[in-house]
Amino acid sequence: MTATHAFWLAGRQATGESDFDVTSPWDGTTVGTVSLPTDAQVEEAVAAAYAVREDFAATPAHVRAAALDHVGRRLTERTEEIARLISAENGKPIKWARGEVGRAISVFRFAAEEARRFNGGEAQRLDTDAGGQGRLALTRRFPKGVVLGIAPFNFPLNLCAHKIAPAIAAGAPIILKPAPATPLSGLILGDLLAETDLPAGSWSILPVPNDRMPALVQDERLPVISFTGSETVGYAIMDSVPRKHCTLELGGNGAAVVLADWASDEDLDRAASRIATFSNYQGGQSCISVQRVIADAAVYDRLLPRIVAAVEAQVTGDPNDDATDVGPLVSEAAAERVAAWVEEAVTAGAKLLTGGKRDGASYAPTVLTDLPSDTTLAHEEVFGPVLSVQKVTGEAEAFAAVNDSKYGLQAGVFTHDLQAAFRAHRALEVGGVVIGDVPSYRADQMPYGGAKQSGVGREGVKFAMDDYTYERVLVLTGL
Ligand code: NAD
Repeated sequence: MTATHAFWLAGRQATGESDFDVTSPWDGTTVGTVSLPTDAQVEEAVAAAYAVREDFAATPAHVRAAALDHVGRRLTERTEEIARLISAENGKPIKWARGEVGRAISVFRFAAEEARRFNGGEAQRLDTDAGGQGRLALTRRFPKGVVLGIAPFNFPLNLCAHKIAPAIAAGAPIILKPAPATPLSGLILGDLLAETDLPAGSWSILPVPNDRMPALVQDERLPVISFTGSETVGYAIMDSVPRKHCTLELGGNGAAVVLADWASDEDLDRAASRIATFSNYQGGQSCISVQRVIADAAVYDRLLPRIVAAVEAQVTGDPNDDATDVGPLVSEAAAERVAAWVEEAVTAGAKLLTGGKRDGASYAPTVLTDLPSDTTLAHEEVFGPVLSVQKVTGEAEAFAAVNDSKYGLQAGVFTHDLQAAFRAHRALEVGGVVIGDVPSYRADQMPYGGAKQSGVGREGVKFAMDDYTYERVLVLTGL
């Protein structure tokens, strides 16, 4: 695969005057060469999206739903090929890449359903006081305008799907910007969208380089920015456009709590297995990876060796191999950063129970205990296959430990106690609490997003559609 890939400008393929190579983090080979849009081409895409916005909002729901269903079907047919592409450019093990395509299929299907359901409108009687007598209010939602969707590298297909599918479902044109390390998986969505009847101009997929993004972010024809990525970039964008609507899906340092009642051998085996899998899947490069285990003293001594054994059982290596659990990180630089953080933690007194080794872009699944609170690893998002295990006494201490973080994306709580589940829901300062599992569970239709510095706003198809639209009331008089 070394052909030059065009980008998508207002629904058609185009090439610019320069290009860049996408390389495999596993073996350094060139996965593809991607053409870069010129400034004039970016302008053309924005102008086309802006021009079509009213017509697109008025496109019948069945047309938009049919287009979304079509993309879902074509993703299904092309699953293996697209999974191989995700794996090649991202380094994600093939089994996880297939899972990602499956998730993207769900996103398009949910979006098709929501397109049919959305905006049914609501009637409100206004004759509850004399001034409203003879009046009726009808409320419908209309797009705020063109959406600028900015996606990260770690789910290069599904997080592009989470930007583009709700926009189409809501009738909002979109300019989608995939991540520079992994643009091919986003661009392939264009192949499928181009087979539909969506109006030209309603969608573009442009791999604009980061240094040219500020101009696009500032463009007043793009009132909605939906960003998924790092805290630093996300807040810099929001600070630069305080009057725009920004959704920020940012980082996390996900915690899995194991309470004292989760105590049978079977319970602890399951918790250890889920924790080991989801601190390492995609090399820990998921915003809801398990980075912290907070275990009650009543189960800690029986849980810890199980976690270490389960982590050591993770199969590392070639992402193309069906048996591989953990492939390389996205780049050697990313693995070097993870190594530096672990080294800092160990120097400060953390105990390394397994892992702690780097080989090129690969980093061995790692477990630490006794992590000092003033280390980088203790308070930042590691985005690597590194787990720290902490002993606490009682539920209150466990919940306080979860909340002792600037992040608040999701938390997992292993408990059988329904009352404890409700207490966790009340106490934990996160966007989602998962009972009986790790924080890494996400269904694509549920509201998903952060508290604290993990972000602003919610994704999940319907919730993104709410974000891309606003309520407009029609008051009828003389009835
Ligand atoms: P990143 O912030 O480096 O990049 C994200 C996107 O922003 C990329 O497309 C990048 O090209 C673009 N970008 C970079 N500079 C920009 C600028 N000045 N203006 C506009 N856009 C710019 O993030 P990443 O390394 O690709 O992804 C990893 C991060 O994403 C992690 O922090 C992870 O937790 C987070 N993430 C969050 C979620 C979530 O839903 N909360 C999901 C996945 C990943």
